[in-house]
Amino acid sequence: MALLEITDMSVAYGRIEALHGVSLTVEQGELVTLIGANGAGKTTTMRAVSGLRAPSRGSIVFDGKDITRMKPHLRVLEGIIQAPEGRGVFPGMTVTENLEMGCYARTFESKAQHDETLDHVFELFPRLAERRDQVGGTMSGGEQQMLAIGRALMARPRLLLLDEPSMGLAPMIIAQIFRIVSEINAQGTTVLLVEQNAQQALSRSHRAYVLETGNVVRSGPGRELLADPAVKDAYLGVA
Ligand code: ATP
Repeated sequence: MALLEITDMSVAYGRIEALHGVSLTVEQGELVTLIGANGAGKTTTMRAVSGLRAPSRGSIVFDGKDITRMKPHLRVLEGIIQAPEGRGVFPGMTVTENLEMGCYARTFESKAQHDETLDHVFELFPRLAERRDQVGGTMSGGEQQMLAIGRALMARPRLLLLDEPSMGLAPMIIAQIFRIVSEINAQGTTVLLVEQNAQQALSRSHRAYVLETGNVVRSGPGRELLADPAVKDAYLGVA
């Protein structure tokens, strides 16, 4: 059984349908990427999974449970955690305080488990550890992105949703973010990633889906899609 199973899902904004019967799965332990042009429906898919936008048709099943109509905060308790788009760190709070906000909804079994999770985030992001007392608003764009991902990890996600984590960052930082996303996945967290940066995302994904104007038009192992001439032509900037 897949961890996440979306079947024939349509999502509309008013009278305009943005997704037309999308089906996709994410298996336990996978890193799965959605790629597609602007407006293809990637963010809308993420919103439907996190519960911010209700589907008009179809179903979303998480770990065997139908969550199609479940409220977003209850999905968080199920372990579906999204690092927000545009980062959304709290500018006046320190790095540590921002991280703490990531687990306010979670009742840790013990203080030790909480401390272990925080230590783990600081291990993944040494930059955050160095700057633990700095306020979020004065961090660089890349550091804020790390903080947003670190904050999501504080909730110990079973499914981590990342919406364009590389957006607006310099190439060196992008490479670093992708390495860390791979590492998080290698350590056992299932990840659903939305990315414009198709080259890096596909090369690190177990599988990927290509969305075009609200439909899945291709899917397969990341490396297979990387080699697919149609994908190359449309998304990798090489014919
Ligand atoms: P991008 O890479 O530009 O973020 P995307 O693939 O994430 O694109 P979505 O943001 O999911 O695409 O948008 C899919 C379609 O839904 C687009 O046509 C968009 O204009 C429309 N849409 C998105 N949000 C809204 C909204 N709040 N109200 C109305 N239409 C919306």
